[in-house]
Order: sequence, then C-alpha cells, then structure tokens
Amino acid sequence: MMNRRQFVSAATAAGVCLPRALAATNVKCDLLIKGGRVVDPSRKLDVMRDLAIADGRIVSIAANMSATAAETIDASGKLVVPGLIDIHTHATRTKDGPSLCLADGVIGLIDAGSQGADHIDDAIAVAKSAPQLCRVLINIGRAGIIPEGDTMDINRADVAAAREAIGRNRDMIAGVKARLSRDVAGPNDFEVLKRAQEVASSFHLPVMIHMGQTISPLPKLLALLKSGDVVTHMFAPPPNSIIDDDGHILPEVMAARRRGVKFDLGNGRTGHLRWDMADRVLKAGFLPDTFSTDWTPEARTSQVINFPNVMSKFLMLGMPLDQVIACATVNPSRIFPVFHNRGTLKVGAPADVAVLELREGSFEFEDNFKNNRTGRQRLFPSATVLGGKRASLAH
Ligand SMILES: [Zn+2]
Repeated sequence: MMNRRQFVSAATAAGVCLPRALAATNVKCDLLIKGGRVVDPSRKLDVMRDLAIADGRIVSIAANMSATAAETIDASGKLVVPGLIDIHTHATRTKDGPSLCLADGVIGLIDAGSQGADHIDDAIAVAKSAPQLCRVLINIGRAGIIPEGDTMDINRADVAAAREAIGRNRDMIAGVKARLSRDVAGPNDFEVLKRAQEVASSFHLPVMIHMGQTISPLPKLLALLKSGDVVTHMFAPPPNSIIDDDGHILPEVMAARRRGVKFDLGNGRTGHLRWDMADRVLKAGFLPDTFSTDWTPEARTSQVINFPNVMSKFLMLGMPLDQVIACATVNPSRIFPVFHNRGTLKVGAPADVAVLELREGSFEFEDNFKNNRTGRQRLFPSATVLGGKRASLAH
C-alpha cells in the first residue's frame, strides 16, 4: 500500500489529474504560469496545467492551482514548454546575439565553431556575458570561419593550439567543431576530422561535424565518430547525403546512430536544407535527434527567423508536436552536460520555460534552395522565463 504522499507523487509523476482534495492548494510562489497547455516530452506530458515557480525552480504543476503569486503570466491559448536549447548557433558573433535568442525562448545555446584557437577568447567573452547558459565549440581551424575555407590550408587544423585553448577554458568549451564540406576543408576533410577527434578525445569532449558536399564519402567520415558526437546539416543534399538514390538511409548512418552518434538539423541558409531531401529522410523513418538553427544575426530576416519558426517547418513536414518539442528541449539537453538538468518541467528543475503560441493559418517556409512551401501552423515566441524570472517579451 502507498501512503498518501507516495500516492500523490506517483499520480503527479504519471500526469494523473488528482482529486480536488489532493490537489496542491495555496501554493505560494514568485511566478505563476497560468492556464497553458503544458507540453513536456521529458515526462510525456501534454495537458492543461498551471506552473508555479519559486526561488528559480519549478515547485508545482497542477490543474486550476490556487496560488498566491508575485507575478502571473496568462498562458491561456498558449503552449508552455521547457526552455529551448539550440546546439548549433553562431550567437557569439555579436554581443547581443544571446539576448536576441533568449527572446525567442532559447535558454541554452551552443556557438558551433565561429572561432578557432586564435580568437576563441572573443567568443568566450560573449558567451560569458550571455544571460542564459551559453557554451562554445572550438573550430579545429585556428582562424575560425574564414572565406577561403577554415582548413583549406591543413596547417590551420592545429592540434596543439586547440588543446592549449581548451586547457585554458575547460568550463566554456563544450566540444570541437569540424566543418568538412568541399569549400571549407577541400581534400583535407578526413585529416581535419582526425585532428579534431585527437583534440576532443584528450578532453573527453564531443566533436560536431558539418556534413554535406564533402569530397570524402560520408561513410569514411562517420567511421571516425564516437558515441556523443553530433552530425549537423543531416538533410544536406548530395553529394554525400545520408540517404541513397533509392530512398535508403546509408547502413553506415544507421550504424552511427546505433553507437550513439546524434543527427542534428542545422537549418542555416546555404546548402543544408532542401524540402525534397527532408521528405525522403523522414519517409525513411530517420527522424532528427535535435533541431538547431545555425543562427546568425543575418538569419533573423531570412529562412531561419527564429528557433520556433525552424521547429514549425517540421510540423509542416508531418512530425507530431510532442516530437518537434522534444527535438528542441529534452533531446539536446542530453548531448552537452551543461544542459543535463534543463529540457524538462519536472518539479525541482531550474525554471527555464518557453511560452509559445501555435497559430493556425497559412505560413510560408523557405528551404536553402529558394523553394517555398506553405504550412498550416507556425510557432511564435510569446514569453521566456529564465531562472524563474520573466526574461523578455517577444520582439
Ligand atoms: Zn554553423
């Protein structure tokens, strides 16, 4: 037999609606998010609930909560989801990048290789001043992203320089980025990835590769990836995409997923996302592990716009809402240890919450190849709560 407290916590964990007598009453809190549809894939929850927050943490989730709150957010007609985590951005390129992302509901950010060893301090300074959790991946090319190609000159893939930079910034560098397409690494792609892995494994860090349009075949590159590594731009069209002409996901891609390699969207604006590729990959049943924007300040006005807009594209492509939310919350929270206690709305978790609006209508979405498609739903940022405080209004 369970005692009353065990029953209440078991029932709450199962998302069961409690009888009124057992429901939380007279909760005192700093912030109450009232009347929203709570979608939290970490707990398989999709129900109307109020959310009470005190001392920066979620203290109660219940229907029709009677609470005394210093501040209330009216979330009626809106979605209340764990704060979004975007693992591929270039948010540190500009000082206000992280704040702009915060207004979109993003409470966790990875800058994916904007800078290499030579200028990593610049990226780290912005990451440290970010309002939300922000970490960087160091570009294995020591000069970072450069027009002539980060590692077209193989000497720029400098293992010693990258190791020295990580050694000085263990708390801020969350992994190593290797951009491998032909205009970035040219014929050096395999050697560049080997060096990135050499650096990462000495610190037990993941590598993120930018795939697509490589000179080396994808299976040769995937063979170098270990559990916890991330492949971004997973919908990149040929040459060297993840799917063959007959609509089969490459066996080496399936094997990589089985051993723990993660596959990420990386929306971006050039060469990464094409609708027909996304159709074929999703039809083959190979869903993304994570969504990410490849955010830059310029992308705010074209294609990317903001993280909720990027998520909306996959509603249009037929993914169910809870899976779309999972790819932006609980799934990315598991990739980098810094986010391990985020991506969830469970009681006791840090109160990082995104309030989104799911509008019905007619919405245009553009891939990276100037193809437009019309969707019937779009997610819009409405409010962000960070560390229990209302961070911003949508811009
Ligand atoms: Zn990028």
